[in-house]
Amino acid sequence: SEKKVLNQQKVQDKKPSQPAVFIPVDRLPEIQDARLKLPVLAEEQVIMEAVRENPCVVICGETGSGKTTQVPQFLYEAGYASGSGIIGITEPRRVAAVSMSHRVAKEMNLSTRVVSYQIRYEGNVTNETKIKFMTDGVLLKEIQKDFLLQRYSVIIIDEAHERSVYTDILIGLLSRIVPLRNKKGMPMKLLVMSATLRVEDFTDNQKLFRIPPPVIKVDARQFPVTIHFNKRTPLEDYTGEAFHKTCKIHRMANPATHRGILVFLTGQAEVHSLCRRLRKAFPFRKNEEADTSEAMRKFKKAKQKKTSLPRIDLDNYSALPVDEGDEDREAGIGDEEDEGSDVDIGDDPSNEEEKADPSLPLYVLPLYSLLAPEQQAKVFRPPPPGTRLCVVATNVAETSLTIPGIKYVVDCGRVKKRFYDRVTGVSSFKVTWTSQASANQRAGRAGRTEPGHCYRLYSSAVFGDFSLFSEAEITRRPVEDLVLQMKDLNIEKVVNFPFPTSPSAEALVAAEQLLVSLGALKEPPRTGRVKEMERARLSCPITPLGRAMASFPVAPRYAKMLALGRQQDCLPYVIAVVAAMTVREIFEDLDRPAGNEDESSKLTQRRARLTQMRRLWAGQGASLLLGDLMVMLGAVGACEFAGCTPKFCEENGLRYKAMVEIRRLRGQLTNAVNAVCPEVGVFVDPKMTPPTEHQVVCLRQIVLTGLGDHLARRVQAEDILDPKWKNGYKTALMDDPVFIHPTSALFKTLPEFIVYQEIMETTKMYMRGVSAVEAEWVPQLLPQYCHFGPPLDPPLPWFCSTAGTVRCHRSSTFFRVGWQLPAVEM
Ligand code: ADP
Ligand code: MG
Repeated sequence: SEKKVLNQQKVQDKKPSQPAVFIPVDRLPEIQDARLKLPVLAEEQVIMEAVRENPCVVICGETGSGKTTQVPQFLYEAGYASGSGIIGITEPRRVAAVSMSHRVAKEMNLSTRVVSYQIRYEGNVTNETKIKFMTDGVLLKEIQKDFLLQRYSVIIIDEAHERSVYTDILIGLLSRIVPLRNKKGMPMKLLVMSATLRVEDFTDNQKLFRIPPPVIKVDARQFPVTIHFNKRTPLEDYTGEAFHKTCKIHRMANPATHRGILVFLTGQAEVHSLCRRLRKAFPFRKNEEADTSEAMRKFKKAKQKKTSLPRIDLDNYSALPVDEGDEDREAGIGDEEDEGSDVDIGDDPSNEEEKADPSLPLYVLPLYSLLAPEQQAKVFRPPPPGTRLCVVATNVAETSLTIPGIKYVVDCGRVKKRFYDRVTGVSSFKVTWTSQASANQRAGRAGRTEPGHCYRLYSSAVFGDFSLFSEAEITRRPVEDLVLQMKDLNIEKVVNFPFPTSPSAEALVAAEQLLVSLGALKEPPRTGRVKEMERARLSCPITPLGRAMASFPVAPRYAKMLALGRQQDCLPYVIAVVAAMTVREIFEDLDRPAGNEDESSKLTQRRARLTQMRRLWAGQGASLLLGDLMVMLGAVGACEFAGCTPKFCEENGLRYKAMVEIRRLRGQLTNAVNAVCPEVGVFVDPKMTPPTEHQVVCLRQIVLTGLGDHLARRVQAEDILDPKWKNGYKTALMDDPVFIHPTSALFKTLPEFIVYQEIMETTKMYMRGVSAVEAEWVPQLLPQYCHFGPPLDPPLPWFCSTAGTVRCHRSSTFFRVGWQLPAVEM
């Protein structure tokens, strides 16, 4: 076992930090048998010795080797949860946190009161909890409440290879917390678990761990997997290709053994579409039955939900439970494949050469992040006798969940990712090639029980061009929310934070600039030399407003709106708008392509009707100027009045899950705002009455203060030299025009000044969440972005705004645009 522990360092004082106890666990014999087959069991001693002797340990092992389910049990048996501290495990995905807590409870024959989970909005943690699975975002919020994490004796960071933003930050924070705890005589252990051997960002990182932690490698009993590449150049229609390949495998493979097939696609809509085609091609009575009973069950559940969901009480606010340890930002992390429309897009074009063949039943199951847990659990059960299991999955099946009995993998080679333009903040969802590491992970799923086959729907040349590993997420997204959270933890110099992979200095500067503009951080002193100012820009201290903003579980721009929202009785509306902007994709995507002609005409009709509906929600006159945010407000209100039913949502083009989430978030935000300023309790009625004209004006101003850097101005007719600028808007950060989407409430109005929630690049650069702004508000409400007085030459740096009463110009350094604004009395 000596050679398995790479990097082992002799720790100076070998005081055993834990008593040598053994807490017996009463497992069922069949569970015990299955456990003994897991490779990680062979390493129990090595792991536990390393944990005893080192504050931090890294464990690498193939997916399915038993890390997630077994390591917490080792620690439990060794007494790490027998004192006051408990064992905490973080997962980047909600799916994994819930499903693994259930599995471990079952394996240990313990109740879910003891082996529990906590994810955003829900959990079953009790005061008996000894092992707690949670999403990484939940633990980050707990660190904000108790930096030393005194409740825990061990923290396990699972799936570290995924390099999710919160995982990275947690490792950075824990690299400081663990020594602090040990110094204070309250020993704590950190385990980092990864499915790949590429852990040098954690181990060979002087900033992170002065003494490199030992790396324990778990040898997986992996059977050889034969890789079959496509000969042809990769097709665009990979779902169709996946369909044909799956059919072929199912026909050719030995029907007697019924080994399972696992197909990797990129998103929920694709998964459902392929499931439908496969079920049609290989009908199986149970498939249909399961579907109907499933639909019935869902319906019943939805009905129950309507009455059992908490209602925010208009009169008795204090009686509601306060959300503890809740957090928001796990949304979007690892759940990316679920973004976008998940509306049923009907059947695919009927060019399926496959005739329905009931003699070869295929048991087809979907698997993706937001699938209901009971549905997910199905993939772990053996398929009905005489059928072959076929799981159609997004990349959740890549490393977080191991499906038993898979011999064939079909890999489309792609992954859906959100991309941000670092400078402009423009984001877009793109299906891109995955990395070699992730393609190999996918292939590995085929060799768990016997030699397997992986069919890659792309050529070996294309594979050769894949990047070796996926980039750490933190390098690919804006970081203003993280910077604010860190400042709230009193980490002033975020540049010096021990990130496993640091975001670019550029991204960090942009984040501090935005936070200064929002008033969350103190402006750096204006004196001193340029170099000193540069340095100061990266260590601005947090303001009281910033602390309040950090306590709201939403992005800083929206947190600013909440902080101002109490004025003019606008808070309930601000909360609703912020919740609707935070929960992504609340509206059905009207831009989606139709599958065939028949569907196309239906879709055109629906598009017209839903657009009309949105115009109705936007109202007229004063309220219309709040634009798309008024539409959101109208949709939320209307949905609540209708009782928030799946039927209402479906009919009106709203995503039901999103609407339910908005309701929860509204409750949570109300609590958060009240916690900051408890003496003025705010009540939120889910059924809001529409805001008055006066309130709409206030709302527009509040929105402007949050989205100030997202101000855009319509290009005046006389300035249009290039036809591409027709109806175009100029933003502060981009040279190219951006547009109001045809489905936007303000598409016909085209106000001169607007703010937008975000820019999404689809067929064009479109602004989403557009709201109109009056020109004279800009110098009054956004003085930090304005230069007062005659234009300067050369312009001052952005943070050197000077007050005045004369004409007002946009500073041409920060925003590079010299918009002439009306003169204001300051
Ligand atoms: P790792 O974390 O190393 O990827 P896991 O601990 O997740 O491995 O999985 C170990 C084994 O437990 C796998 O063989 C997997 O199939 C099995 N397993 C995990 N969850 C369940 C479940 N809910 N039902 C049945 N088996 C499960
Ligand atoms: Mg795991």
